[in-house]
Amino acid sequence: MPQYPFKNFHHVPVAAIYCLDPRFRTQHEQFISKELGLKEFDQYVFPGGPKALVDDTMRNIFLGAIQNVSVNLHHIEKIILIAHRDCGAYGGSKAFTDAEAEKETQMKDLKTARNILMEKFPAINVKLFYAEIIGDNVEFKSVE
Ligand SMILES: [Zn+2]
Repeated sequence: MPQYPFKNFHHVPVAAIYCLDPRFRTQHEQFISKELGLKEFDQYVFPGGPKALVDDTMRNIFLGAIQNVSVNLHHIEKIILIAHRDCGAYGGSKAFTDAEAEKETQMKDLKTARNILMEKFPAINVKLFYAEIIGDNVEFKSVE
């Protein structure tokens, strides 16, 4: 049987919440580990990513998992939320009248998700990003 390297540790500085869309999977991981330089992070990968925190049926499941594992066990200091263009959880880009309307809806959800996290975890820093499709590439833009 093949074997894979294992490293034992319990301090993880960051939790990242993003969509499971396989078209963005490696880019998300590269962005966080290479561009942001965060080698270890808790991954909350779910359809729509941060949208799950805005959803009444999902919110408490996510907040409970973040509290129990990322905060209490891993002692995170930061949470990264990433939304992306053409997200199936929103019906894709085609569900919107134009690209601007799509982004506006997702920005609103990102900010709502940030507020929910800041209220629940006031000591934790929350950063927002938007994964934009540019030709054949993905670029991660910081959102204030
Ligand atoms: Zn998605």
